[in-house]
Amino acid sequence: MRPEILFPLFKPVTALKGVGPRLGKLIEKLAGGRLVDLCWHLPTGLIDRRFRPSVADAPDGAVVTLTVTVDEHHVPSNRRLPYKVLCSDESGTVSLVFFNAKEDYLHQILPIGATRVVSGRVGHYGPEIQMPHPDHIVSPEGASELPAVEATYPLTTGLTAKPLHRAIHGALDQAPGLPEWQDPAWLAREQWQPWRQALLTVHEPDSQAALEPGHDARRRLAYDELLANQLALAMIRAANRGRAGRAIEGDGRLRRALRAALPYHLTEGQEQVLVEIQTDMAQGQRMLRLLQGDVGSGKTVVALLAMLGAVEIGAQAAFMAPTEILARQHFDTLSALCQDLQHGDLPVRIQVLTGRSKGRPRQALLDDLARGEINILIGTHALFTEDVIFDDLALTVIDEQHRFGVHQRLTLGDKGAAADVLVMTATPIPRTLSLTVYGDMDISLLKGKPPGREAVDTRAMPLSRLDEVAAGVQRAVNRGARAFWVCPLVEENEQLDLAAAEERHATLAGILGPDQVGLVHGRMKAKQKDLAMQAFVSGQTRVLVATTVIEVGVDVPEATIMAVEHAERFGLAQLHQLRGRVGRGGQRGHCLLLYAEPLGETAKARIAIMRETDDGFRIAEEDLRLRGTGELLGTRQSGFPAFRLADATAHRDLMEVARDDARLILDRDPALETPRGQALRALLYLFERDAAVKLLRSG
Ligand code: ADP
Ligand code: MG
Repeated sequence: MRPEILFPLFKPVTALKGVGPRLGKLIEKLAGGRLVDLCWHLPTGLIDRRFRPSVADAPDGAVVTLTVTVDEHHVPSNRRLPYKVLCSDESGTVSLVFFNAKEDYLHQILPIGATRVVSGRVGHYGPEIQMPHPDHIVSPEGASELPAVEATYPLTTGLTAKPLHRAIHGALDQAPGLPEWQDPAWLAREQWQPWRQALLTVHEPDSQAALEPGHDARRRLAYDELLANQLALAMIRAANRGRAGRAIEGDGRLRRALRAALPYHLTEGQEQVLVEIQTDMAQGQRMLRLLQGDVGSGKTVVALLAMLGAVEIGAQAAFMAPTEILARQHFDTLSALCQDLQHGDLPVRIQVLTGRSKGRPRQALLDDLARGEINILIGTHALFTEDVIFDDLALTVIDEQHRFGVHQRLTLGDKGAAADVLVMTATPIPRTLSLTVYGDMDISLLKGKPPGREAVDTRAMPLSRLDEVAAGVQRAVNRGARAFWVCPLVEENEQLDLAAAEERHATLAGILGPDQVGLVHGRMKAKQKDLAMQAFVSGQTRVLVATTVIEVGVDVPEATIMAVEHAERFGLAQLHQLRGRVGRGGQRGHCLLLYAEPLGETAKARIAIMRETDDGFRIAEEDLRLRGTGELLGTRQSGFPAFRLADATAHRDLMEVARDDARLILDRDPALETPRGQALRALLYLFERDAAVKLLRSG
């Protein structure tokens, strides 16, 4: 349970004085619904009120603080005109301008003849100097109350600066001082303030530099967040590793037979990662390894060889794919590759289990599995189901593609007392980011691609040239080509998007003939989906219109064209994935990025990068640069933790330190029982890594 000292921070914003349901909604939309969210809504700008020129010297457009005498109230003749209060110093006259003014009130705060200190932005209108709606009007005695510098915050429609400012300060007032969780020596070295003070400092920037991520107080808060994240990952990993592993080292017979049957030689990169994986599997410890390799680098056969290693010792392997289509495709590919492999006197048995497996066939499969008669089971998350019981699971491969969370990875690990886990990811993740997702999981990098691949020819075109593109596809199809045509599916408006995909299917069918064009989307029944895929794979249909379901790894070597509609809606990594679907079969691939005009800056940059390079790692780095951490690949689907305070680029150095720090902490205090350990528990709750703390409790 969350420590009591943190309770105030997790109250809803409506608990603040002056924040009702309407304002609460706006704040929730902008920053989040709890006080802690307000604390982490950091200023992005500041207003400096220390500039005190004379009226005549106040530059057009600048924020200034003026000391003036009130001369005259100018009541407008017409309600639509503004109310003006003329004020002056020795150098000149300034008009304070008010729309919808209340005359009585203005006389009260700006009585004629009085001296006032006013602060706000001035504008020059011909000879007239104006200050519309001053931010502050105080008497000279009250001038010390005027803030020297004021933070400004990102806003949202309907929410103005003042109430937000007040709410943030209300939240900060309730932020408790917390026991220090950072190492005192490290704090001293960095000269960082305690948590609460750092929080206050961040909200009271005194200079432009204080708004930068490199500022000490911001670094302190970012480090807190990074440490919480690394600590949680390290705890999960420790819980995993805690269980004894098992050495998997077969005699190599099946692997040799497979290699002999392959129509190609493994690439150097494939050999390299296989050595790493097999060495790790042979260790008595449990393997938790990430295999990173660009699209088309040939991860599937690597996974198969690793799984055959498990089969050689008489154990079982599981292979999990993110979608039904992929699971079935992997099943087809792997079955074909293993067709002639003999294990003992029996062929190697591969089966597939998905959400669609039901009734008696499913039960028969489960029985075979429990008896150890299935060597390799391929499937979707249906493999997690409780009644799926292996006889002796030794290796789990997860073709993750960012669809599964840490939690699920662990659950499948539970199916074998000490099953090794190999996670495969096709989207190269920059090293710093992979740290935040996988912590100190071991990593194998699969470099290079099978030979004979030409770079995909990539072009960008406005959607207005759709007819031309369709005609081009038609010509190519007539010459025997096969094409993917992707229409994006955006969750917010699935209905409309679906309609768009259906409409495109109809147009293309109109041009190419109805039997030539297939359609596959997420709302279709599995059976229909399979049929559509199957027809395209076999070449019965020539064009496959799809929502992004094909994004995740379908292999159709004959496909050479990838048209992407509304390319501007996709992230770089997704575009790279899509493009990776073509040009796999030795023939040159073509990728057409169709975009809606006008194109925003980021979308323009993305498309330029796509045209410039096909190096997945470079693309991932650029994606990170363009979008920042939170948004990379879209946080929700990527499974990346969304950082509130840390920035993957600016705080890169801290990320590495946090990982080492987390390891050290757990080495010395694995149950977080020391006083610092207790403080660290609060830190984990503060950043809502509750699950990790629970892991600790349960032993
Ligand atoms: P990914 O890493 O994206 O999962 P795949 O495993 O699907 O890539 O491999 C892409 C294609 O490359 C497949 O058609 C596969 O048969 C082929 N392939 C894999 N390894 C090699 C190799 N060493 N030489 C030639 N082709 C290969
Ligand atoms: Mg793959």
